[in-house]
Amino acid sequence: MINKDRVINEFLELVKIDSETGHEREIADFLTEKLKSLGLEVIEDDAGQKIGGSAGNLIAFLPSKKEGPTVLFSAHMDTVKPGKGVVPVIENDIIRSQGDTILGADDKSGIVAILEMLRVIQEEKINHVPIQVIFTIAEEGGLFGAKNLNPANIKGDFAYILDSNGSAGNIVIEGPAQNHINITVKGKKAHAGLSPEEGVSAIQVAARGLARMKLGRIDEETTANIGIIKGGIANNIIPDKVEMDGEARSLNREKLDKQTEHMVECLEKACQELGGEFTTKIELVYPEIKLNEQEQVVKIAMEAANNLGFPVTLTKTGGGSDANILNGYGIPTANLGCGMENVHTSDEFITVENLIKNPQYLVEIIKVISR
Ligand SMILES: [Zn+2]
Repeated sequence: MINKDRVINEFLELVKIDSETGHEREIADFLTEKLKSLGLEVIEDDAGQKIGGSAGNLIAFLPSKKEGPTVLFSAHMDTVKPGKGVVPVIENDIIRSQGDTILGADDKSGIVAILEMLRVIQEEKINHVPIQVIFTIAEEGGLFGAKNLNPANIKGDFAYILDSNGSAGNIVIEGPAQNHINITVKGKKAHAGLSPEEGVSAIQVAARGLARMKLGRIDEETTANIGIIKGGIANNIIPDKVEMDGEARSLNREKLDKQTEHMVECLEKACQELGGEFTTKIELVYPEIKLNEQEQVVKIAMEAANNLGFPVTLTKTGGGSDANILNGYGIPTANLGCGMENVHTSDEFITVENLIKNPQYLVEIIKVISR
């Protein structure tokens, strides 16, 4: 049975460990010991070295003789800022910080759920399938831990990330792929009063390109934005350089590519008309999540929630998570709601009820898979 006090105490212990992105050493050591004491084999990979962080991803495995798929559970160890010196406060069964930091339920509510699940299935001697656990670094700000996993280390046939809003039973099955689009327009510098005919205004070229660009909501599955534009030096100099930074997102990769091409073409045309040149840097930040109700990973999550009487919602997100990266590795991965609220703010909180529902849910998922 889920031990409520144990879950709460472990959660409080975890949020008190500073683990802002890049500084996961202390929590990684703490969790390595925890996982080992629960009988898991643990390795730490070299992702931290690759990205200049203090610790790598923890990759743990609980073997089993029971035949069946290997299920992977994952949560991230890092938090956003301000995440140092968190002092958790429980009031009316709601856990929040003192108000000057985040709480870190994102994503320590996920970590504690996985730990409690591992304890309970062993205490209850559930004949479970093999279980892999991955605690990632540097999820915040770029999914860098997951991106630097070695796919060869991943044993899960399918996976659950515990890193979504909504309480247990909220299952994220769709999320867009994102392209980061950086465009530099090069014109020609000239004195604006003495010899304007010798110049090519990069600002004007960029403006014409931008004016033609379809941005914002493109269709049901696709969005686009130019979020930064920088250029020019002085009012009397025709500007020779403008840099634009933006993105496109879509649930559909073809549409993503089409929108990205469209944005580039707008600049191309403007350059043809007004002169100037441009260069682009386009990077796939993360691939899409596109699961459906028929897939095993979703069916199991729905069934487990139904068994516990948790309302099931299948949702679509506009953001990215480690689930996008794991799906990109070919591992069907759903992102599960953990009940965290107001994440990335000092008003972040989680109710004790939701904190306890998470491990209950994971144990039920194990029971459904291991039947
Ligand atoms: Zn998170």
